[in-house]
Amino acid sequence: MKKIFMILFSVFFTTIANSATLINDTEIERKITQIIMPVANAAKIPESRLKIYIVNDDSFNAFVRGGEDVFIYTGLLKQIKNPNALRAVVAHELGHTIGGHMVQMSQRMHDELMRTMIIQALGVGLMVAGGNPTAGVGVMAGASGIAQQSMLSFSRDEERMADDMAIDLMVKANQNPNGLIEVFEQMRDMSGEFESRVNPNRINHPLTSERLNNAKTKIGKLKKIPQKKDTEITRENNEYEILRAKLIGYLDTDKNVIAKYPYSNKSDAAIYARAIANMRGGDLDTAKTGTKTLIKRNPNNPYYYELLGDIEYQYGAYDDSVAAYEQSLKLIKSAPQIETALALVLSERNKPGDKSRAKELCKSVILHEPSPLAYWILARVTDDGESDWAMAEFYNMNNDTKNAKKYAKMAQKKSAKDSPEYIKSGDILKN
Ligand SMILES: [Zn+2]
Repeated sequence: MKKIFMILFSVFFTTIANSATLINDTEIERKITQIIMPVANAAKIPESRLKIYIVNDDSFNAFVRGGEDVFIYTGLLKQIKNPNALRAVVAHELGHTIGGHMVQMSQRMHDELMRTMIIQALGVGLMVAGGNPTAGVGVMAGASGIAQQSMLSFSRDEERMADDMAIDLMVKANQNPNGLIEVFEQMRDMSGEFESRVNPNRINHPLTSERLNNAKTKIGKLKKIPQKKDTEITRENNEYEILRAKLIGYLDTDKNVIAKYPYSNKSDAAIYARAIANMRGGDLDTAKTGTKTLIKRNPNNPYYYELLGDIEYQYGAYDDSVAAYEQSLKLIKSAPQIETALALVLSERNKPGDKSRAKELCKSVILHEPSPLAYWILARVTDDGESDWAMAEFYNMNNDTKNAKKYAKMAQKKSAKDSPEYIKSGDILKN
């Protein structure tokens, strides 16, 4: 146990200081996709092309790049209190795209951004840190600087156009445009704290009150404001609460988690946040009790089984961990992070058949959503050329060209010239 943590720690955490961290989590990505899909569709972006990136940064910010890549900051998610307001923020950002305001973020800047991004899964990432809350994902926040890049560039006119477009998109998507009003009201309420913390040259968004008034005027002129059924609003709000609870459970300090979700709060969201915080703090028994309650209440929710798998793994109870992840995967179609977690535990347990199952899982992850960790596990569960090639890909994804080439050369020596490993290693050597 200890050994794998140390190895993972050294390979994953050494490059983090200068990078932005992207959080990779199936549950969060899927729930956000559901929330913003209506406005994305209204902006003519099909679901197959929409990609959500969660940036681990406390800024109250989001941006859209290339019309289809939606970057949402954890600071925004933690603070925005309902899904319709989040949808309005994304609609605003899509408004910049439609208005052609994104020209200043060049391809080169985008490449640079993607190159320096570290992709970090919540559950697995936490295990990687050995369950030590101070080494957890939270401490990696705030290193990005992308917030500045995206916010600096818009003029007052562009902001106003994007706000107008956001209202149009919300209405077109049959969503209540007052979500935008809620965002401005929230921004206004927190502006003291917000603006004192940020770099002064970032504050060029037109005054929030001006934008608030513009939006109110425009919405006031609408003939009809789309309204959802109360039951639908409640369902959506509850789902969003779970998503926020998860993020807060992983990213906030124990103290903050308990302040936001006191023990008197018996909602699923509160139990979820506390169970995650308990797990991070090493109180596995309490974490497990909470998670079992969630599973009892929601027997078909794959993500609670995922959390149970994480907890059991931390106990070193590999069999129970594997069983929980397998159950989770039965309840959800293709979930790269859960598949990765299971592969990691299998590679560690190493019973007969574990390596081949882990290999199958890694290959599936790499096909759908390649990650350094998936390559790293693949290297552990394969041999010879295949293993060396997987390590080459791992280093390549971590921008360690020297080691990537070293392993690619070793892989080529051990592989047949027409094998996929040989060919893919050749691609790395050409870089
Ligand atoms: Zn804007």
